[in-house]
Amino acid sequence: MEFDLIDAIRTRVNIARDDVALSVGDDAALTRVAPGQQLVACVDTLVADVHFPRDTAPEDLGWKSLAVNLSDLAAMGAVPAWALLALTLPDADARFVERFAKGFAELARAHDVALIGGDTTQGPLSVTVTALGTVPTGEALTRAGARAGDAVFVTGTLGDAAGALRLLRDPGKGAAHAEILFAHLNRPRPRIAVGLALRGIANACIDVSDGLLADLGHVCVASGVGAELEGEVLPLSSALTAVFDAATCRELALAGGDDYELCFTVPADRTSDVAPALAQAGCDATRIGRVVAGSGVRVLDAHGNELATPQAGWEHFSQ
Ligand code: ADP
Ligand code: MG
Repeated sequence: MEFDLIDAIRTRVNIARDDVALSVGDDAALTRVAPGQQLVACVDTLVADVHFPRDTAPEDLGWKSLAVNLSDLAAMGAVPAWALLALTLPDADARFVERFAKGFAELARAHDVALIGGDTTQGPLSVTVTALGTVPTGEALTRAGARAGDAVFVTGTLGDAAGALRLLRDPGKGAAHAEILFAHLNRPRPRIAVGLALRGIANACIDVSDGLLADLGHVCVASGVGAELEGEVLPLSSALTAVFDAATCRELALAGGDDYELCFTVPADRTSDVAPALAQAGCDATRIGRVVAGSGVRVLDAHGNELATPQAGWEHFSQ
């Protein structure tokens, strides 16, 4: 499509890195991976009216399309380095592209991520970002390492983004707290520093994109274990609890998506290492349960009785 659009993106997202030998402009980019490092690669697509409301601010969409990918790198314990951007637009809207690039650049700059290529096509609005990073060989965090007896932790708070989606359907509700909830939905902050701090401590790690139950469920399947969560200790923001009743908060925290926090498991004898490691990363984490033998994720109340759980999985913004 229009070369001026590509140029508008390239000039706004101009983060230079020494390890980029050839960037936007050729048929493909050339980068250098240092000896002893593995390349970590991931891609995520955001489709209008499926993954984000069509009227999302372009700056927020730019930020979020990179953030969801950096969150995947964070969950691997990787350092982000490069990104590619495939943008499909209904029309050649220069203003949209400039605003999109501004939001994308803001997060790219914060993590020193160079935009090294992409594709620009016409069609229904959708954004696909490929993120690339590095991890010392053999040190990546994966979903498969959880062991019975591990403690389960999650960073930050859960359910805020899903709470924002609820507010979209119920205009006027929770106005005083909407800004905080929408910031979680539109400007998720990938937990890169946490992922790095957890190398050598966590047995398994995943980012919470589809909801805690679903994502911890993925860890359980990959690791061949089960998990028990304490339903009453799930970390909730004061904004969320101010707007929704306790049962709704728990449902949003367990089954709502788009949190982009990290859920990880730690051997019982290493749990005291978590707080200091995360303090260095400028983040806190809550111990929310344990890994057990068996399969599946159960949620327990304070007396150890199983609570009914909401349908696991990502909450569609338009239901
Ligand atoms: P090709 O026909 O070889 O695919 P394109 O015309 O699609 O080339 O792209 C020209 C150059 O611009 C390539 O280097 C490509 O990586 C880059 N590019 C295209 N679209 C984008 C985009 N949205 N963001 C960043 N780089 C892009
Ligand atoms: Mg192309």
